[in-house]
Amino acid sequence: MDRNGSKNGLMFPKPAKQKKRKNHPKSILQNEEDGSCYLCVLLEDCWAVYSYREEHHIFFSKHQRALSEEYGLKVRLCLRHHRNGPLAVHNNQKYRRLLEKKGQQAFEALHGHEKFMEVFGENYL
Ligand SMILES: [Zn+2]
Ligand SMILES: [Zn+2]
Repeated sequence: MDRNGSKNGLMFPKPAKQKKRKNHPKSILQNEEDGSCYLCVLLEDCWAVYSYREEHHIFFSKHQRALSEEYGLKVRLCLRHHRNGPLAVHNNQKYRRLLEKKGQQAFEALHGHEKFMEVFGENYL
């Protein structure tokens, strides 16, 4: 036993708890302010600015949507790439998978692979 009588390793005062607030972190994949659509840029190198875009959560099944929100795994999409027609991510399995892969890569660049597996429990790479 050390001089402080510590048995459990808690020799240092715990850091003050972060104030709990509902925060909505920005996208970690896209600069949301520039008005572009993530898929227009990625797939077509088109930087068109849209007056209306929709927010898409990259992992959106069940509890994953909240996790996507928490970790900024979301992108702004034009309607053509979000909901309308064959190129829309909600209609197109290939683009859905592409975004999941991009999302995981962006997450892992910040937090690492283990953390991704811990949080999402599946590998999309
Ligand atoms: Zn688009
Ligand atoms: Zn969506």
